[in-house]
Amino acid sequence: AKENGRATYHFFNETMSHRASEHLALRNGLRRALDAGEFELHYQPQVELASGRVIGAEALLRWNAPGEGLIMPGRFIPVAEESGLIVPIGEWVLMEACRQARAWQQAGLAEVCVAVNLSAVQFRRGNVEQSVLRALEATGLPPHALELELTESLMIQNVEQVLATVRRLKLLGVKLSIDDFGTGYSSLSYLKRFDVDKLKIDQSFVRDLASDPDDAAIVRAIVQMARSLNLKTIAEGVETEDMRHMLRVFQCDEAQGYLFARPLPADEFARFLSAQQAR
Ligand code: C2E
Ligand code: CA
Ligand code: CA
Ligand code: CA
Repeated sequence: AKENGRATYHFFNETMSHRASEHLALRNGLRRALDAGEFELHYQPQVELASGRVIGAEALLRWNAPGEGLIMPGRFIPVAEESGLIVPIGEWVLMEACRQARAWQQAGLAEVCVAVNLSAVQFRRGNVEQSVLRALEATGLPPHALELELTESLMIQNVEQVLATVRRLKLLGVKLSIDDFGTGYSSLSYLKRFDVDKLKIDQSFVRDLASDPDDAAIVRAIVQMARSLNLKTIAEGVETEDMRHMLRVFQCDEAQGYLFARPLPADEFARFLSAQQAR
């Protein structure tokens, strides 16, 4: 048993150091990636349910690391947050998303609002308001064509400071949404205090919408509450026709998910948009 224990301990140790070195490699890679231009944004259409029109695009970050292929954000965002690198990376995301949205406008494509994810760390360590202002000014994108996605967890830390920042962002004229709505711990009271425009109903409630009456009840309740507070709703992770149908019945405003399109490289998104304009 002793031998066994030692072997296990040894194995555990190796796994730990493997993880640690992978973490380090990731961190060093991220540091280089910005200068090397290895990040790219993919855009996932957001569809107005009543009309079927694409009215927005969520910008989702990918890392095109040499020899690694596309690395998804779930693998590197936590490391970027922990190391603070999310601040310069997030500034790049804002600038690039605004530049792209403006380019689509100038190319005469249907007007879409581009949604950018903001990390809580950007709020704590960076100057979000200044980054947003700089991106809008540099690209000429009108503020109403930019939406910022915040998480509930962000809204419960340093409430007063976040509240002040959110107020200033609203004064710039950008839109604000709460991402992954329903998954945080927070009370609903912040909905009154934070002047947001939209709730993004988390995928976890949408996934079994058509088969689980509890999830259906939750989604319907969120939509009803949002409507009475004059907030828009968008459901994420919409994969089936059944889900779309139920969301329409519930009077959810918008939807996003594989049913419509996966996150697309910028040129494919532009083709997707012009194809549906032609219809
Ligand atoms: P999120 O903001 O909740 O983004 C939605 C995720 O769901 C995306 O994963 C998207 O590709 C995926 N998705 C979209 N439609 C469907 C569907 O129909 N079914 C399923 N199962 N999934 C769907 P992705 O691109 O891997 O991004 C993961 C997370 O990484 C995002 O979650 C967001 O929290 C974070 N992230 C992505 N880009 C950025 C960024 O630029 N900055 C920051 N701070 N975080 C980002
Ligand atoms: Ca999001
Ligand atoms: Ca989300
Ligand atoms: Ca999420």
